[in-house]
Amino acid sequence: AKVTRLGPSPTGFIHLGNLYGAFADERLAHQSGGTFYLRIEDTDDKRYVEGAVDVIINSLRFFDINFDEGATIDGHIGDYGPYYQSQRGEIYQCFVKELIKAGQAYPCFLTSEELEDIRSKQESAKENFGIYGKWAVNRSLSLEEIEARIQAGKPYVIRLKSDGNHDLPSEEIKTISVEDGIRGTLTMPENNQDVVILKANGIPTYHFAHAVDDHFMRTTHVVRGAEWLPSLPIHVELFHKLGFPLPVFCHTAQLMKLDEEGNKRKLSKRKDPELSLDYYRNEGYHPAAVREYLMTILNSNFEEWRIANPDTAIDEFVFTVEKMSNSGALFDLNKLNDICKDVLVKIPAAQLCQFMKDWSREFKPEILPLFEGQETYVEKILDLGRDGAKPRKDLIYAKQIFEFISYFFDDYFIIQDENPENVTPEDAKAILSAYLDSYDHADDQSLWFDKIRNIATELGYAAKPKDYKKNPDQYKGHVGDVSTVIRIALMGRSQSPDVWEIQQILGAERTRIRIQKRLT
Ligand code: GLU
Repeated sequence: AKVTRLGPSPTGFIHLGNLYGAFADERLAHQSGGTFYLRIEDTDDKRYVEGAVDVIINSLRFFDINFDEGATIDGHIGDYGPYYQSQRGEIYQCFVKELIKAGQAYPCFLTSEELEDIRSKQESAKENFGIYGKWAVNRSLSLEEIEARIQAGKPYVIRLKSDGNHDLPSEEIKTISVEDGIRGTLTMPENNQDVVILKANGIPTYHFAHAVDDHFMRTTHVVRGAEWLPSLPIHVELFHKLGFPLPVFCHTAQLMKLDEEGNKRKLSKRKDPELSLDYYRNEGYHPAAVREYLMTILNSNFEEWRIANPDTAIDEFVFTVEKMSNSGALFDLNKLNDICKDVLVKIPAAQLCQFMKDWSREFKPEILPLFEGQETYVEKILDLGRDGAKPRKDLIYAKQIFEFISYFFDDYFIIQDENPENVTPEDAKAILSAYLDSYDHADDQSLWFDKIRNIATELGYAAKPKDYKKNPDQYKGHVGDVSTVIRIALMGRSQSPDVWEIQQILGAERTRIRIQKRLT
């Protein structure tokens, strides 16, 4: 059984990359009968935003990513807490003390001016930045010296006393090998940095909190972004010095998108609204569709599986970290929209109607009454053209669905398009009044169409006559122009599903009223 975790910082912004990682975590844990937990990494109080934890929990719940353990809005569930890092101070301090006692960590009193000075010397000597080797000046202070400085009130941080030594020719630098679940064997130079593990305010750095928490919370698989790869040697050394076995590290690829020029680039908070999970909730993306799409970018073999198993629940697919991309997962909104169409066409109308209610209640309350109380009507609308061998796939996300079906609701019905150019206003009226005269709601589709054809013939809109070239004025247009005039009267637009089917839903009365209105 695998144990995985999500460790977001409560910055108030939760993005697609979080969801991508969380879905991988959730699948790994739950497929193996294991545990997925939420740990709030709130050690950096400068970044803390009020209410951010609710945002994290609610967003993930919306996308059906469920935790078994961990932080809740005002507490936690599970036996390995606290799950807020800000409440784990004593635990970190206890292990810092152990490391100091074992001679593996030390207090460092360098001031920011001294650090700046070291940095500029390193710069001119073209050396690596950081505290290591000869730069680690506070490493061997005696206990008395340490005490004296602390007594004098000098601020200090605690640094790891790294065993690594890079003051060697490059071929002699020791390397470490780590098995990454996604990337295979990684060989990297060992750490030689005396990194800070406890800041001057007594708060641990990410590196230290990560090692302690992932060990004591029993994490077996650490799924995190590739931006942590460069710090992996630090973590390996920390786990080693603390005497903890390594979890399986899985460094996921960055989410990328294609820009207008066709180049891959990272999704950016500023330029790409679709990076934020709020975007999908505002637009009304269905969580099942987002999950389906995410799985296509999580696992390269998912689409093939889906073709072979069109009706199987997504959770039956066996997700593996080995099949994850390591080079940059490409995010494509158009592809997501296509997947939405495929997913929504299979969701029963009653569920879709409920979905529209839930979405409008939150994001567009003024249209909630359209869905609440006239469910039968709405379900017929949503089901339009969905049966048969080639069902229409035109429902994508709630905002788009509302616009797509708005003409069915009198309050939102507007004439958007113009009649065909070749139909004169007089002819348009003639078409509509002939249509109204012959209209019988009980007509089946073929009788209905015969009537339209008759109207067309009578008014000179029929197949092109043989002598069309000699007498072009005798030909006004074809039967399609006639039905477009009717279509616009009923739906306000020249593109729509089948007119006869739409009328069945609109009902006789609404149909007549709309035609009549267009005649006056
Ligand atoms: N708090 C870290 C972040 O938000 C978590 C990284 C990790 O999963 O270890 O980037």
